[in-house]
Amino acid sequence: MGALRDRFWERPLADLTTEEWEALCDGCGRCCLHKVEYEETGEIEHTNVACKLLDTQTARCTDYKHRKAFVPDCLRLTLKIVDDVSWLPPTCAYRRRADGDPLPRWHYLLTGDREDVIRAGVSVAGRVVSEHEAGPLEHHIVEWDDEDFDEGEEAA
Ligand code: SF4
Repeated sequence: MGALRDRFWERPLADLTTEEWEALCDGCGRCCLHKVEYEETGEIEHTNVACKLLDTQTARCTDYKHRKAFVPDCLRLTLKIVDDVSWLPPTCAYRRRADGDPLPRWHYLLTGDREDVIRAGVSVAGRVVSEHEAGPLEHHIVEWDDEDFDEGEEAA
């Protein structure tokens, strides 16, 4: 892994190395949940159903390196598409940096503790069910507390 530059997260997304890009993710796990998209309207609803590879207690992918082999449609967030993924939560570091906003104060790059995303109530750890056990997605529509994200919690 290449060295991460000092406070690289303050640089424009386009300036980041592959390692820095990967390191931006806070591991909240929201990417790894199924969504329901209605063809006619394009409306997207959120669920609490996790991809089969997600450890539902930690919100970590159990095989990140090989995930595409098991889940071919796993989203790979890139600079090109970050603006197009409308359902990214307002806390997501990619979304925030794409909008020119700072990382939230609890982001592990600022605190040094990857568990802080859980303490901040942002992680899906312990709040989701695996697709192996869930049954129909329509029975699992949820609204995450995105609107409750306190802008005052941002880093200065
Ligand atoms: S929503 Fe953003 S921060 Fe959360 S897991 Fe996905 S890419 Fe990482």
